[in-house]
Amino acid sequence: MTILSYIEDIEKNEPIKLNQKEITELLNTQKQNVLRLMKVASDRKYTDNITYSKNMFIPLTEVCRNSCGYCTFKKESNDPDVILLKDKDEIIEELKISQKYGCKEALITFGEQADEDELVLKVLNEKGFENMTDYLHDVCEEIVDKTNLLPHSNCGVISYNELKKLKEVNISMGMMIESSSHRLMETIAHKNSPGKNPKLRLEVISNAGRLNIPYTTGILIGIGENKDEIARSLLDIKNLHSKYGHIQEVIIQNFKSKPRTPMEFHDEPTLLDMIRTVSVAKLLFDDVSIQVPPNLNYHTNQIFLLCGADDWGGISPLTKDHVNPYDKWPQISELEKFSIELGFKLKERLAIYDKYINEEYLNQKLLSKTELLKKQLK
Ligand code: SF4
Repeated sequence: MTILSYIEDIEKNEPIKLNQKEITELLNTQKQNVLRLMKVASDRKYTDNITYSKNMFIPLTEVCRNSCGYCTFKKESNDPDVILLKDKDEIIEELKISQKYGCKEALITFGEQADEDELVLKVLNEKGFENMTDYLHDVCEEIVDKTNLLPHSNCGVISYNELKKLKEVNISMGMMIESSSHRLMETIAHKNSPGKNPKLRLEVISNAGRLNIPYTTGILIGIGENKDEIARSLLDIKNLHSKYGHIQEVIIQNFKSKPRTPMEFHDEPTLLDMIRTVSVAKLLFDDVSIQVPPNLNYHTNQIFLLCGADDWGGISPLTKDHVNPYDKWPQISELEKFSIELGFKLKERLAIYDKYINEEYLNQKLLSKTELLKKQLK
């Protein structure tokens, strides 16, 4: 079959079951077929709503066991400016300010397995905790009890038991797979990042599925992978979702070269690469939201809404994106303008998608609070 015949089948609404080779071919679509690919993908979007979540970003620690070639977040534990461990009282104070701005999601993102570092472990022990997971659990519990926000934690690679413990106090969790390519473990992108081993990351996402944790994941494109590897990454996520049904959102993130990183002079993906990847992702995940980070694509983000993307992600009225500090988030009013101009509506959502707000996914305490906050959505 040719690319054109896949697209024709999709246009005829034939059931889509694409294998890795076919996805790779679609990721190489050219000329007018790109417009047809965008159209069939955007036809899979069954809503006019483009969603976002009002969040507050909490970098619990900037120490990380990995050293990715594109990272601007991580700091060494002996860096005088490092956040070794953000204090719980400080976090709660900041969240209480953010709730005045209507934030409902406490997005807790931090370096992976930072408690392997002796300085981090020392501070944890001084606070009475043996490891990062116990501290995070305590912080999240207090967020649930004392603020109007709901925790969503991005912990990197953690064990089944750690996920199980954190599920008690998180409405959803997340971790980018980045790429299923083992080859990248030998390249500038991931050669110093044991936690970016795709086998480990897929196991975490699989464990989250076994535990019924609503999960956000995604891929980072342009870090040296080829089209076949993008296809494999999307299929791996798709297979886990088919098995467990817990993937609520897939992020298609474009690599941005940042000063003073090992990949400072590495090429960024083209707009066409993004268009084809977002379109193919929508074809594969018609029941899952597709997000393209708007801060990384300020001048081009509307085009992705025409490829089936339907979520702007977490937007903070207060904090910068600590992971991408060079790329300012658009204001919510700008996102509204971008959406309305194309005929869509901007709609606030929680950090958990509606279909997961039930007893199958949340304990009674989280469910009650989530239902209360849902009523406050604009
Ligand atoms: S990108 Fe994430 S995992 Fe990689 S070094 Fe930075 S903080 Fe660690």
